[in-house]
Amino acid sequence: MNQKILISACLMGEPVRYDGQDNAQKVTQWQETLESWQRAGHLIPICPEILGGLPTPRPAAEIQNADGEDVLNGRSRILTKDNDDVTDAFVLGAEKTLAIAKRHNAIAALLASRSPSCGSRSIYDGSFSGALKEGTGVTAALLERHGIRCFGPEDMTDMLDYIGDCLLLEKSQ
Ligand code: SF4
Repeated sequence: MNQKILISACLMGEPVRYDGQDNAQKVTQWQETLESWQRAGHLIPICPEILGGLPTPRPAAEIQNADGEDVLNGRSRILTKDNDDVTDAFVLGAEKTLAIAKRHNAIAALLASRSPSCGSRSIYDGSFSGALKEGTGVTAALLERHGIRCFGPEDMTDMLDYIGDCLLLEKSQ
């Protein structure tokens, strides 16, 4: 496999979450697979919020009653609980992540769930109550727009199928 796969740095155990923690426990059952990919040089760890210039720890932030697509289209903003607007940093992080993905010709991304940057299926709804809504984070939305499929840890089986299909396609070309 020559292809590169983006992965949320927090899933790789880097303490880059807003609260200074990581999300390594979310991929415990796939540890062996991820370690073999890492040893073979396929994984590119990224944290869009750090790439966007935000510090760790940082205040929690949520997309307001919308999703990453709406933010990219200028129809929603990302606010912290104290009402600070951090939209620009999130969009910058998404753009920098996309640039990295393009530079490495990444075929897919394994992204932490629920994050306003990385969520690929559901995200927090903007109420800071823990409630979720369907939709993607800003980075996942931008990557998907550019044909880079995004998966969460709960979709790992689908991701393995997708990568397998990409390899078959590559071999037939
Ligand atoms: Fe993890 Fe993504 Fe949040 Fe960074 S932005 S801490 S990689 S979920």
